[in-house]
Amino acid sequence: MKNKGYMGKILHVDLAANEIREEVLPDSVYKKYLGGMGLAAYVLYEKIPAGADPLGPDNILGFLPGLLTGTGSFFTGRWMVVGKSPLTGGWGDANCGGTFSPAIKRCGYDGIFFSGISEKPVYLYMDDHVRELRDASDVWGMDAVETEEYLGKKDGNKGKQPKVACIGPAGESISLISGISTDKGRMAARSGLGAVMGSKRLKALVLAGSKRIVPHDREEIKKISQTCNKWVQFQPPFVSGPMTAFVGALLRFLPTVMAMDGMLYKIMLKKWGTVAMNQMSPEMGDSPLKNWKGSIKDWGIRKSYASNPDVFIDCEKVKYHCYACPLGCGGICTTEGKYSETHKPEYETVLSLGGFCMNEDVGAIFYLNEVLNRAGMDTISAGHAIAFAMECYEHGVITREDADGLDLTWGNSEAIVELVEKMVRREGFGHVLADGVKQAVERIGKKAEPYAVLAGGQEPAMHDSRNDPGFALHYSVEPTPGRHTLGSLLYYEMFQLWKVVKGIPKAPAMYWKGSKYNDPDKLAEFGATTSKYMTIVNSVGGCLFGAFLGAKRIRFFDWMNAATGWEFTPNQYMDKAADIHTLKQAFNVKHGLEPNKIKISERALGRPAQTEGANKGRSVEIEAMMSRYWEQFGWDGETGKPSSEHVERIAAAGGK
Ligand code: SF4
Repeated sequence: MKNKGYMGKILHVDLAANEIREEVLPDSVYKKYLGGMGLAAYVLYEKIPAGADPLGPDNILGFLPGLLTGTGSFFTGRWMVVGKSPLTGGWGDANCGGTFSPAIKRCGYDGIFFSGISEKPVYLYMDDHVRELRDASDVWGMDAVETEEYLGKKDGNKGKQPKVACIGPAGESISLISGISTDKGRMAARSGLGAVMGSKRLKALVLAGSKRIVPHDREEIKKISQTCNKWVQFQPPFVSGPMTAFVGALLRFLPTVMAMDGMLYKIMLKKWGTVAMNQMSPEMGDSPLKNWKGSIKDWGIRKSYASNPDVFIDCEKVKYHCYACPLGCGGICTTEGKYSETHKPEYETVLSLGGFCMNEDVGAIFYLNEVLNRAGMDTISAGHAIAFAMECYEHGVITREDADGLDLTWGNSEAIVELVEKMVRREGFGHVLADGVKQAVERIGKKAEPYAVLAGGQEPAMHDSRNDPGFALHYSVEPTPGRHTLGSLLYYEMFQLWKVVKGIPKAPAMYWKGSKYNDPDKLAEFGATTSKYMTIVNSVGGCLFGAFLGAKRIRFFDWMNAATGWEFTPNQYMDKAADIHTLKQAFNVKHGLEPNKIKISERALGRPAQTEGANKGRSVEIEAMMSRYWEQFGWDGETGKPSSEHVERIAAAGGK
């Protein structure tokens, strides 16, 4: 055990050979790659052979806590799953909160990496004395909640309160839009990594270790955490749920934008969770509607009212916090019907199954939230698949007969419910959609292509890239495209990195709305800085919502030095993040991806521009932005590829 906040070891599990092996890592690896995302880049870049089948034995699936997880620092209890994505063919990752992250460290490891394919379904069990693969035949077929309850009590696990991460039926049936669940329905949902776990016949990880996580300077960490906490606990009264719609409408009409301070979002998040944005986002143009084709004219206040934020806290029976989180945006809601409760749905889920499909039936959304969480299927991708099918239906590309007799008219909530259930069971037309939009186009045929909105094979999230060109950039250039958690212009404003990192440009406090679309150099610089900072956040196990409070208030850089005893400056950490990001880009290049061929679909870029609504007349000149972004990292401005010398220099510095 180290007194540096990390455990100094990773675990390799060969599922084909039933072999488990520890690897001790030198400190130089941590100094270079930190932990979490960075450590994952170090392992996966080297160990997954070029061209490996994402669903084959050569792919490696890794589970990692953050460098800071368990050290006493705040907002650092998230875990990450990584592997080659079957959706994009490149780097895949997804992260999740809850309580699973410290459980990995308490077993003594900074990462657990699975290779090979098991002959029969298995799960990994670990405590302080036992470390073995166990037969999972009796849980194969159970949903994620049933699995967690069953494995938590099985074989003497009872009393140890093990933490469980598992797949549901979607992962078992290798749905390319499946994820991995913990805490009975929290999902590491993106990149299709549930399918990788299913392809390996790995049902779950059951972790019951109790090793201590010892940081270098616990007192200093505590001191920093106390200063952070005062920002988190400041909570003045705020408007009612339906009033948020009018705030959004006001922002839509104003010709100027004021740089956003994350304190405002924090106040909303603490009160409601992410559903705070259910009405505000569509009003201000942040929500894509009707499969990216609609606008606020289709989804006005009267329609979004049914999902106003107060609806979700009115049925919230308990609020909860992820591990080491002082904010607590999560909740358990009571529901009617088959399931008596569900995790409070996230904004992404409400919008993707609501306004994105023109569905006003909030009861159906609560129900589908639980159905998809139990199945282990990504709600963003599932909503995309349904909206895509509805638009195909509208244009006669698929008929009622093709859709198993379902009337896929926009907003038909009964049909949406039935179709999602069919997707989970891979039944009839549900099978056509069960692997996401890209596969659905292949199954339906080229005539469906105009209605597919994708970023590098993955369905983009519920933030409109025509409203914030930073989303367009990150949806397109990130090694894991289509993700909303990696950057935008808004995030740059909220991170306020110029207060701690030298030489970083300050975001303008106020500017004309139109001006944010016409400066690719500035947007690329903001974007590259944001990518680097999110690499830090994802390497320490950090929560994006904590980062929104600003780098001076939530002090990840200072916590890293206090936990490890290092003395790096914020600028040095940002340089390390640039190297990690480069290694992820090199991973994609190694696996045959051409970065300049990956960008979000034309519709989401405003090509052609919308003729009405909040984003009327807006289109994003993405190519210039992409090129400038790559140059910020020293990569080729035309191809987006780092040179082999650049990559070798980084890989060689890994400490071997
Ligand atoms: S802010 Fe929300 S998602 Fe982030 S760590 Fe806290 S409870 Fe978890």
